[in-house]
Order: sequence, then C-alpha cells, then structure tokens
Amino acid sequence: MHGHSRREFLQMGASLAAALGLGQKQAIALADGLERLAEQKTRVLWLQGMSCSGCSVSFLNTDTPDPVEVLTEMISLVFHQTISATQGTQAMETLSKAVDEGNYCLVVEGAIPLTMQNACTIGGKPLATLLPPILRNAQAVVAAGTCAAFGGIPAAEGNATGAASVKECMEKAGIPVAKRLINCPGCPVHPQTLVATLAYVANKRFPDVDPVLLTPTAFYRHSVHDECPRFHYWEKHEFAEKFGDEGCLFKLGCLGPLSHTNCPRRQWNSGVNWCIRAGAPCIGCTNEQFAKKKDFPFYRKGEQYHAVEYQEQDRKGPKDET
Ligand code: SF4
Ligand code: SF4
Repeated sequence: MHGHSRREFLQMGASLAAALGLGQKQAIALADGLERLAEQKTRVLWLQGMSCSGCSVSFLNTDTPDPVEVLTEMISLVFHQTISATQGTQAMETLSKAVDEGNYCLVVEGAIPLTMQNACTIGGKPLATLLPPILRNAQAVVAAGTCAAFGGIPAAEGNATGAASVKECMEKAGIPVAKRLINCPGCPVHPQTLVATLAYVANKRFPDVDPVLLTPTAFYRHSVHDECPRFHYWEKHEFAEKFGDEGCLFKLGCLGPLSHTNCPRRQWNSGVNWCIRAGAPCIGCTNEQFAKKKDFPFYRKGEQYHAVEYQEQDRKGPKDET
C-alpha cells in the first residue's frame, strides 16, 4: 500500500495539471488516477518495438511526480524490457502471466515490423506475433511516441521492415481501436503527457481523443503555432533569416503550424526551455507524417510553403475546457 495521503494526491494532481496547462476539474481527475495507480488497481506493461528508447528515457525524466515516486510508488510497471528487474525466461513468464490475468494498461514504444518480422524480437519471438494477444487483453493501449503512434522514423519512405504503427497492427489483427487505443505522439513523448494519460486510464476515464489521430485533446488540441511566443512576428511577416535572429522561424523551416501539442505551455526539462524558445524551428515531431516522407526533412531553408497541407483557418482549435 502506498504511503501518500489524499491531500498529497490532490497536490500531485494539481501540480501535474498546472505543468500541462490544465484546469481544476482535470487536476482532481488526475489526482484520482494517480491514487488508483498507486493502489496498483491498474498495472502497466511496457513493450519496446523499433525505437531508440528515447520515450523510455523521457518517461524516466518525469518530475511531477518525480521518477522514483512514479516507478516505486505510482506505477506498477510489471514488464519493461530495459527497466524490469527480471530478465530472460523469468521476465517472459511474468509478461505471459500478466497478460493471462488481464486488467493492465499496455504502453507500446516504437513501431512494429510487420514484413521483416525478425527485425524486432522479444524473448526470441517476433514482436509482430507476440503483440496481438497482448493488445487484445489490454484494458487500454497507449502508443507512446510518434513511432508507435504513426510509424515515425522506422517507417520512413522505403520502409524495408514494413514498420507499422500500433493502430495498423491492431487493425490487421482485427482488434477494435475505439475507446481502447490512445496515441501520444512526440519524439519523444513528453513525460507528463504520458503519466497524465496513464492516470486518466487508471481512473477509468478514457480521455477525449481526436476522432482521426486518437490523440488526447487535453494535450494535443492546439498546434505549436497557435500558442507560439513568436506568433506576433508571424502576423507582422517578420521572419528570421538565420539562426539567432529575432522573428518567426517559418523561413528556417518551422513546422509549428503542423505539430499539434502543448510545448509552448509546458516546455521541456521541467519547464526550463523548448525548441522555439531555444531558437530552433519546430521539426513537427508530433505530426502524423513526421520523418516518414522524403519531403518532410527535419530542417529546411528558405521555406515558402509547408510540405504537408496547412490551412490557416485551421490554426485555432476549439476553446479550452477547464
Ligand atoms: S511558424 Fe514557428 S516560429 Fe513562427 S509563429 Fe509559427 S510556430 Fe512560431
Ligand atoms: S516544438 Fe515541435 S519539434 Fe519541438 S518538441 Fe514541440 S512539437 Fe516537437
């Protein structure tokens, strides 16, 4: 049993909501979810597919609550290829037992190679064959990071391994995605976004998601461009011509209009800084097409138009719910 009082959970929920720019209603829901996670009413299985492990590293950098609390008191992480204490046969038996028992939330990091299946194996088994029954038994599935959510870098044009997103994998196996799959893109996924999503799931409140992208609207409703501190330059058509200049970074290839997430609100590394504030254009890391197409490179120069369709009238999302 955890050692936190209800008051402490409310404080944690409030800090997490504040870090994510959410209101009081969400703070209470998050507090309830964190409490349920700590009571181990929902366990978490985490599988890594074709990934750089950056989303695991990002998760370990959470600060509200801090990583030690998350791992030792909040989240019962039953299986994780690199963090679990158990290894080899014992770890695979733990995974199999947890799947049989059900009542878990599955986090998938990385893409799944559906064609060259031996490109990613766990315990000697191809992930592509191991994954479907684990997806089927899950109470909820969180695709953590852009590779899991949309294919990302492993699915870049050419895609010799047949790297696919979790959604494609579920559809291929005939597993319904509605009210089950939550996409949390980002390269990497932001740690607070992930912890908050797990708290929603543990609280049995499936978050509101975008009907097409399946991203939680609380965190992915607005584009980076919507809330960018350089937006006033964009309106005045004052563009930076080189790195370090004042001005909107559009002509240095900024993809903020195409990347829906809350970076301007919560920033990175405990709110220390983020791409655009550091003078780097947004590379669109939450976009569905991120790194997949040849005409979607990380950096461009002399931008006249965006490679992916962008309508100015779509710039502002619906009003915030607090
Ligand atoms: S194009 Fe980029 S730098 Fe310019 S306002 Fe939009 S998000 Fe900000
Ligand atoms: S500013 Fe853009 S590239 Fe940077 S983390 Fe946010 S969405 Fe990703």
